[in-house]
Amino acid sequence: MTQRVLPQSPAKEIIDHSFLALRERAPYQRRLTARERIQRLDALYEEVWRRRDDIKAAMWADFRKPAEEVDLTEIFVIKSEIKAVKKRLASWMKPRRVPGGLALMGSASWVRSEAKGVALIIAPWNYPMQLMFRPLVAAIAAGCTVMLKPSEVTAHTAQVVAEIVSVVFDEREVALIQGGPDTVTQLLNLPFNHIYFTGSPAVGKIVMRAAAQHPCSVTLELGGKSPVIVDDMKSLKSTARKIVWAKLSNAGQICVAPDYVFIPAHREQEFIEDLKSAMLELYPGDLTENKDYQRIAAPRHADRIHQLVEDAVRKGAKLAHGGQADVEGCWVQPTILSEIDADSEVLNEEIFGPVLPVIPYAHFDEVVNFVNARPTPLALYLYSKRKAFVNEALERMQSGGASINNCVIHVSSNHLPFGGLGNSGIGSGHGEHGFKEFTHFRGVYEQRFDGAGALLMPPYTPWKTKLIDRLLRWL
Ligand code: NAD
Repeated sequence: MTQRVLPQSPAKEIIDHSFLALRERAPYQRRLTARERIQRLDALYEEVWRRRDDIKAAMWADFRKPAEEVDLTEIFVIKSEIKAVKKRLASWMKPRRVPGGLALMGSASWVRSEAKGVALIIAPWNYPMQLMFRPLVAAIAAGCTVMLKPSEVTAHTAQVVAEIVSVVFDEREVALIQGGPDTVTQLLNLPFNHIYFTGSPAVGKIVMRAAAQHPCSVTLELGGKSPVIVDDMKSLKSTARKIVWAKLSNAGQICVAPDYVFIPAHREQEFIEDLKSAMLELYPGDLTENKDYQRIAAPRHADRIHQLVEDAVRKGAKLAHGGQADVEGCWVQPTILSEIDADSEVLNEEIFGPVLPVIPYAHFDEVVNFVNARPTPLALYLYSKRKAFVNEALERMQSGGASINNCVIHVSSNHLPFGGLGNSGIGSGHGEHGFKEFTHFRGVYEQRFDGAGALLMPPYTPWKTKLIDRLLRWL
């Protein structure tokens, strides 16, 4: 049975009705076999594939996302997530025997992987389909019923995603609600069993506070400033190229985009030249016309990024490259900043745009102190050929994830946990890690035959006291 696409910002009665249908269905959904869950995942991908051109058209209309990048960073990501989940789902679902030990003699213990129930998935706009469907794949695999809330900023994509969901799922299994913060506020009043939120740390805190009302578990996939630390290497060219690619892809609107770069002070000028060359090589010509260079999702976001540059320049920063913007046209030029004042907003706010601050360092301690004085980043990027450099960096600085000699790519793995720590998030998704977020691990104990347990019940006669004492020493 397919469903209808619900109206934008639906009335409270519609939201409540939808939620109750999901809740009523949850016990049935929990009992679906691996095969039945996989059938749903296959149907989801089939419909995504069938709507491939519409998805591309929607993302072009939303923020001129290049068609090739829709294939690579939206459609392929969903395909590969489903593939990875299908391969292992049956084994993840199996009850797992655990040892009881001598103290629990005569018993058996096992862990059941059970769906938490009704999940709410809230998505941001920067990867408007995969950041909705990747957790959806995990939730369906775990056996949850799901309410989805795509971002209102990328409205064309949200509509196509809503249509896809309406074709693939029964409305009692997956419902999709479109709307902005007011709609989210209504959703957050409902007693979900798990909330999977991807978005900014500020809204993440709102979600966590709301979850405390019921209470329910949360996965918070948040953002922040992911530093890049470059070692003193022979050539910096390929490093600069990889950093530029990661910074300018999606016009810098990536939660794990390299936010700023540390470079040994005596190599700063050479590195800036390499960055500039890489920018011109990857995105040649007039960038207002270049179809490979994406737009910012909305004028207010373009304005925010441009203000970060203006603020830095006002406080003395040097524009090593770029600096132009057409705010109404949602276009921001690739920009490199150097000699930046430590109080500049660009060094303290998440940039989430195509602006790269370069910071020179003389001693590694300066880097460690700078990074550790700020909230824990979602990713830490290290470029070095030296194991000792990498190990020291990993040991002295925390982050959600880390990547060595590349940026951003680690996100595509279905085996690595993907998530933050502290201000950059709680919990992690992708592959089995995502499945676990939507799963309750229920410990089950069975007394198969009565052991010596009865001997340890009151009344505590002197010989029982002695026995307890012996056991305590022996076990
Ligand atoms: P956002 O927090 O503004 O919005 C995310 C969702 O929350 C949207 O669906 C939106 O409708 C809703 N929302 C917005 N304001 C709200 C409010 N006041 N009350 C309730 N709900 C509200 O984030 P965004 O601008 O869409 O995305 C950018 C942020 O997301 C960046 O910080 C980025 O780093 C982060 N992000 C993180 C990941 C990750 O996987 N860790 C991935 C992508 C983006």
